[in-house]
Amino acid sequence: MRTAKETWDACKGALQVQVSKSNFETWLKDTEGINCQGKRFVVGTPSTFAKEWLEKRLRSLVVKVLMGITGQELDVQFQVCPSQVLAHPGSDSAQRRPSPSSISRYTFSNFVVGDSNRLAYAASLGVAEEPGHHYNPLFIHGGSGLGKTHLAQAIGGEAADNGFQVVYVSSEQFTNEFITSIREKKTEEFRGKFRNTDVLIIEDIQFMVGKPQTQETLFHTFNALHDTSRQLVLTGDRHPKAMTAIEPSLSSRLSCGLVAQVQPPDGQMRLALLRARAEEQQMLIDEAVFEFIAQRCVDTANVRELEGALNTVVAHANLFNQRPTMEMAEQALLGMPVVDARPATFTPASILKAVADHFQVAPESLKSRRRDRRLTLARQIVVYLVREKTNCPLHDIGKLLGGRDHSTILRSYHKIATMVNTDTTVRGKVNHIATALRA
Ligand code: ADP
Ligand code: MG
Repeated sequence: MRTAKETWDACKGALQVQVSKSNFETWLKDTEGINCQGKRFVVGTPSTFAKEWLEKRLRSLVVKVLMGITGQELDVQFQVCPSQVLAHPGSDSAQRRPSPSSISRYTFSNFVVGDSNRLAYAASLGVAEEPGHHYNPLFIHGGSGLGKTHLAQAIGGEAADNGFQVVYVSSEQFTNEFITSIREKKTEEFRGKFRNTDVLIIEDIQFMVGKPQTQETLFHTFNALHDTSRQLVLTGDRHPKAMTAIEPSLSSRLSCGLVAQVQPPDGQMRLALLRARAEEQQMLIDEAVFEFIAQRCVDTANVRELEGALNTVVAHANLFNQRPTMEMAEQALLGMPVVDARPATFTPASILKAVADHFQVAPESLKSRRRDRRLTLARQIVVYLVREKTNCPLHDIGKLLGGRDHSTILRSYHKIATMVNTDTTVRGKVNHIATALRA
């Protein structure tokens, strides 16, 4: 009988000829058959974004192909399941020693280096080449989606390639295995697994807060490895000293090697990340579109979401069978929430001017009595934006627009508020103007 993985690989082969190349590359290539229980076939996806996209767009096709290949009635379930580096020969758990190509898509070569992560990158590289020699432990911290897992897995993959034994776990996994080992009276095995390795990587240490026994176990594991110059690599959402609910004795050990931070990417770095990702997936995208996405994501400060934005634009373009254009990028990212970095730029006067600029009319004409369609729409958008972005009372909005009464203003507001949800052109204009005001 075929394993779930083999079945899914066969499905992927069939799907590859049924969807566009870029859709395949973007959404399907990195999926994996996890298991088949009863009628439910579980497919692992590398991200929530991919999971949602596949559920929405490809579910019925996938079910059809799956049934064609297995000859069974099956339902498909997508499940987020980022690839992991699991290199621990002889381990009896679910871990396996991967062949280099299957280790992970997170490698040093596809990590983009910039000011925001240079130290963490250099330290990771050093640690992967000569575990236990440079910084021990290496603690990488920073916000979500900034590349901690990428670096941790790159270290694991590279060290394993260099012949070192690697154990890579999340904090939850570490905790669970610890608890299980106590319950099943297999603490020796637990110790054996975590203390007989050249490199131990534990991710997201913040999930150990409030778990004193797990922390104590980590403490002993740490000492056993550290004393014999074996490498520890840890990640967390903040500096170990800033984790108040971690035992002081543990947190001082966690910070006794090198603590390196990964920071949100700046503008240059966002561009570099977008270019690299597009190149990796062989997508042809104009520089202007990259710049638009990088600018649109100015508040995102998170590489994962930046990639999501790029994927959204590409998916949109694929839908229309076109290369991504600026217009399309704008459309595709309309729904993306924008955090106002500088709300102070939204004043009634600045909005009036930005709207006038956008419609290429004189600000004065918006105050006039003229009522052609273009001016009317422009006025209504002024009302909408002023009301949404400032505390300006209706009466004053009326005054701003040449003395219109407050029921007219309210009607205008409701009109645009509805259109923003139903009319993509209007939504596009509103967003465009709001973006211009933020620049
Ligand atoms: P974290 O573990 O810090 O939450 P991840 O390592 O999972 O973040 O990164 C989220 C996504 O962003 C991954 O797809 C990762 O490959 C990508 N990423 C983050 N930083 C970089 C970088 N500097 N170069 C390339 N990809 C990156
Ligand atoms: Mg992570």
